[in-house]
Amino acid sequence: MKLNQVGFVGWRGMVGSVLLQRMRAEGDFAAFGQPVFFSTSQAGQPVPGPVAELAAQGGAGSASPAPTLRDARDLGALGEMDAVITCQGGDYTESVHADLRARGWRGYWIDAASTLRLRDHATIALDPVNLGLIERGLGEGKRDFVGGNCTVSLMLMALHGLFAEDLIEWLSVSTYQAISGGGARQMRELLSQMGALHRAAEPLLDDPASSILDIDRRAGEAVGALPDGPIGFPLAGSLLPWIDRDLDDGVSREEAKGALETAKILGGNGSNKVPPQVFSTCVRIGVLRCHSQAFTIKLKRDLPLEEIGGIIDGANEWVTLVDNNREGSLRRLTPAAVTGTLDIPVGRLRKLQFDGNGSENGGGGSVISAFTVGDQLLWGAAEPIRRMLRILTRH
Ligand code: NAP
Repeated sequence: MKLNQVGFVGWRGMVGSVLLQRMRAEGDFAAFGQPVFFSTSQAGQPVPGPVAELAAQGGAGSASPAPTLRDARDLGALGEMDAVITCQGGDYTESVHADLRARGWRGYWIDAASTLRLRDHATIALDPVNLGLIERGLGEGKRDFVGGNCTVSLMLMALHGLFAEDLIEWLSVSTYQAISGGGARQMRELLSQMGALHRAAEPLLDDPASSILDIDRRAGEAVGALPDGPIGFPLAGSLLPWIDRDLDDGVSREEAKGALETAKILGGNGSNKVPPQVFSTCVRIGVLRCHSQAFTIKLKRDLPLEEIGGIIDGANEWVTLVDNNREGSLRRLTPAAVTGTLDIPVGRLRKLQFDGNGSENGGGGSVISAFTVGDQLLWGAAEPIRRMLRILTRH
């Protein structure tokens, strides 16, 4: 379909910045008419030069972006768009989307925020896994498409083969999530915290004779003395075992998304507990970018480990199996190795040896464990959204 004007909201945030970078790299701006940039805080100001350049250099045929930033809360201006892509966040979606629809707007709304994900009118888009569902939604006239939760999308990309072959009875996942998952301001704060830690210990680090316990004490005191910022707690040198809101039932909102969104992306309606069951423990760690996840998986059938590895490895063009050894794991299965790439390495694959679960290697055990790393700003956020826009332009 022809999209004459596409509005961008939230383009200067973490996800939005990566989205524009990817769209330029893939020449996406050439696939539609004019990009129009909106802002909740800088309406009326010129579109920043680097952003205008990203949009204008998308490829032959792309129009120049509109020169000034429009007000992201101006429903009339949003209503002129054939599609709006927003990476602004859930509060923005909550405050604008329903009113825009109530005015009769029939454009496409493509969103990174969680607000609409589980609503019946919205489809969660992760096209390598659920293109059929997206196409069915388009055929039914759906106009709201939302990227999934970052860890859920990365898990589904990593275990795509096991899900596709309906091999998973249940899985338990422990996450190790990067601070950029909390947005640009939290990423800045973590770097400031890291700087404060280093500054506190630096004089002693420079002295080879200094006591390691003194270094430990000074660094510890520096963590405790850090001022409150958007993260709300010290994270440098620590971790945070709770992400997103408290649902008052012992589960964080981030953890609840694991089960609900997985079901919806795979075709369920998102409100029922449908197999496979997913149990999550979500933890923020002091990594800048990339979410890692450790899985314990109960398979419906006992298969040889080699066959399980082949199913994982062959599921899509981005996932690769990393041999379960020290060298491969430390070189390829880390945020440092994966940051900025679309790669989804899966490794540490093994059968869990406990009474009743058979032997290592070969058959004889249906409980396995595995580890994966993925750039949550790419497959966990910007990439499904970018690809959704392309699906619309080809529809
Ligand atoms: P973000 O970095 O906090 O950006 C959101 C908005 O904050 C920006 O568009 C900008 O709006 C404003 N902002 C204020 N101060 C800023 C600063 N110093 N630098 C940049 N922007 C600043 O949020 P995000 O992480 O991109 O997340 C956007 C949405 O995507 C959220 O709903 C989030 O849950 C979802 N999501 C995020 C990730 C992730 O890994 N981060 C993954 C999946 C989904 P104005 O320009 O209008 O002021």
